[in-house]
Amino acid sequence: MGLSGLDIFKQLPKTNCKECGLPTCLALAMALASGKASLEKCPHVSDAAKAALGAAAAPPIKLVAIGAGEAKVEIGDETVIYRHDKTFLHPTGVAVDLPATLPDDELAARAAKIDAMVLERVGLHYRPDMLAVSQRSASAQRFVEAVGIVARSSRRPMVLISSDAEAMKAAAAAAGRPRCLLAGADKNNYEAMAALATAANCPLVVKGDDLDSLADLAQRAAGLGVKDIVLDSGARQTSRVLADLTQMRRLSITRRFRPLGYPTVAFTTEQSPRAAAVQAGLYIGKYASMVVLPLTEPHHLLPVLAWRGNVYTDPQKPIQVEAKVNAVGAVNPESPVYVTTNFSLTYFTVEGEVTASKVPSYILPVDTEGTSVLTAWASGKFSAESIAAALKKSNMEEIVGHKTLVLPGFVAVLSGKLQELSGWKVLVGPREAAGIPAFAKSRFGNLAADD
Ligand code: SF4
Repeated sequence: MGLSGLDIFKQLPKTNCKECGLPTCLALAMALASGKASLEKCPHVSDAAKAALGAAAAPPIKLVAIGAGEAKVEIGDETVIYRHDKTFLHPTGVAVDLPATLPDDELAARAAKIDAMVLERVGLHYRPDMLAVSQRSASAQRFVEAVGIVARSSRRPMVLISSDAEAMKAAAAAAGRPRCLLAGADKNNYEAMAALATAANCPLVVKGDDLDSLADLAQRAAGLGVKDIVLDSGARQTSRVLADLTQMRRLSITRRFRPLGYPTVAFTTEQSPRAAAVQAGLYIGKYASMVVLPLTEPHHLLPVLAWRGNVYTDPQKPIQVEAKVNAVGAVNPESPVYVTTNFSLTYFTVEGEVTASKVPSYILPVDTEGTSVLTAWASGKFSAESIAAALKKSNMEEIVGHKTLVLPGFVAVLSGKLQELSGWKVLVGPREAAGIPAFAKSRFGNLAADD
């Protein structure tokens, strides 16, 4: 492309309206030139400018939508290689693979189970995004039947996996929903698959034998009118897949190599669920836009989805809970009051242990901008002053009929000053949340709820 920031700037409106999220048009131009933004960020850019900017106007990795409506999954459109440079924008789509060879009732049960699955961790809710149906050794007819069964059992976007273009065409019709991801096209079938994807307005996976052949095939598919492409390097060995994913990410973002400027897919191959979960985690970390895995049990999927949540969290914004009084169990005016910080992981660890103690209690998370107890204490955000202010602001005194609170043991040093400032009696609790059940039993055992 070869356009400099100044070349791009000349085509922008130059009003510095900031609607793109950047302070000036020049800042957006520079971000575009370095591949860290797309022209879509500016709502005021003219069609003539879009045409003039050509490839520079396109994001380094195209955004591809799978499915439609509320369940739609968007992948790609990443602008950085390293998460700490900015943040990753579109979480890796997770598709659960259901082989077409499964019996009807098993297919329907697994699809319905995934459809209803919502997993919770530290107050965040996770769910698998898509259902994939793979033909494998099944006949074309069985593949189409299996797609129909899964489609009737789930509203999730679907991935259809077959190299048989005729079977794919019938399966896409049987799915009866827009924008199924068709996986896939290879050097032998890409013309038929491209025609199908174009006619049905579906995204298409193109699979190469290596990155060179993949780039060539992607260009051919694009030349045949396929707008939304997902790249499969063809590798299945973990180290090779990681190398290919990394290479594709670098080439698309740092070199703006257009033939590989599309989201990517990786398929797990490990047989044991634990190994498949680890393999999926590796692909999520570097840099799969979506993974297809065979896991259907919540305890196998939760670590994968929680890891994805961590990778796609803005590193500059810790996950926080609202700094407000929370009741755990059937509280009454005698219930203990635990004070902690509003870092999600800290809060929910404390909440879990308070629940385990079986003593109905209040927890007051103090706003420490999402930092943990010791970090917040070290930075002055979890201080006698901030805790006293939080007690006052929350009207804690009127919620309970006593003035005793439990302070995390790690910040016992705050107890004297806190007592002075707040007028509350301070009990120094355990250093680790794991000590709360034993602490509660010894201090508040008489308040324990009946089993
Ligand atoms: Fe300039 Fe467009 Fe950004 Fe407004 S939205 S500051 S016009 S680039």
